[in-house]
Amino acid sequence: MAILVLDFDGTMTDAEAEGGPFRTGYLEDLCMLVGRSPDDPEITAIAEAVEAELADDPAAHPFMWSGRAVAPATVDPYLRMVPIAHRILDRFGVIPSHVDRGRLLGNVLYKYNYAKTLGRPVFRAGAATALAGLAGTNTWIVTNSDTHAVAGKVTALDRETPGVAWLAARVRGGARKFDVDDDWTGADAELELPDLARPVLLRRKRYHDILHTILAASEATFADLVVIGDIFELDLAMPLSLGARVGLVGSERTPPYERAYVTAHPRARMIDDLAEIRAFAFG
Ligand SMILES: [Mg+2]
Repeated sequence: MAILVLDFDGTMTDAEAEGGPFRTGYLEDLCMLVGRSPDDPEITAIAEAVEAELADDPAAHPFMWSGRAVAPATVDPYLRMVPIAHRILDRFGVIPSHVDRGRLLGNVLYKYNYAKTLGRPVFRAGAATALAGLAGTNTWIVTNSDTHAVAGKVTALDRETPGVAWLAARVRGGARKFDVDDDWTGADAELELPDLARPVLLRRKRYHDILHTILAASEATFADLVVIGDIFELDLAMPLSLGARVGLVGSERTPPYERAYVTAHPRARMIDDLAEIRAFAFG
């Protein structure tokens, strides 16, 4: 029987609706760091300009992590905030070091402001029904976010629509799907996508190790795995390259090159309705 791994933020939730308090709080923190008052109009204008650039040409605007392009920056408000933050820090000449910025943006500001979304999760249409319908299957949630934060969202969803609480114990957080480890050779280094000039980097060791641990517990392999996510490059490319089947939950922000690749690949498909996941994974 197949093993199903779900991404959570943006896949089961409406990241745009949920991310509003994250964006507001993060911009206030950046204002403080560069010595401006909260909601300074110049800061707001920079944020809006970067968001418009990303939406116009997703292939040209990657999400940079440790100096490397690891995802499209446009897909959700959490990823978009990193290029916005870099632009603001560059504009004011603050914190030039990539290492220091990585710590600040990823470890401090991301977590602090992500916490502001926890009290008000916003789920995609049909999320509760789709997840409740997976009861009894070998299904897991693997997320970059904190395990307890996502388990808390699942519990909140169960209070609205009972039947999904069983998944709260099956969340594996801290997956760091954006971390690329060149020294790990368990996957090909790169995947070429038509209409994307840069390669998709596949050596996401920590994410792989979490998937491998889940599979090993059932004596399964990547050929038994189905992964559902909202960002092909982050959630799906590595497992697909190792033999998994993958489903991409699209939005109006999904880059056209990701949509085209998934539609053409024999082991991949677009998921237009979360209710399709069960039949895709388990037949
Ligand atoms: Mg996601």
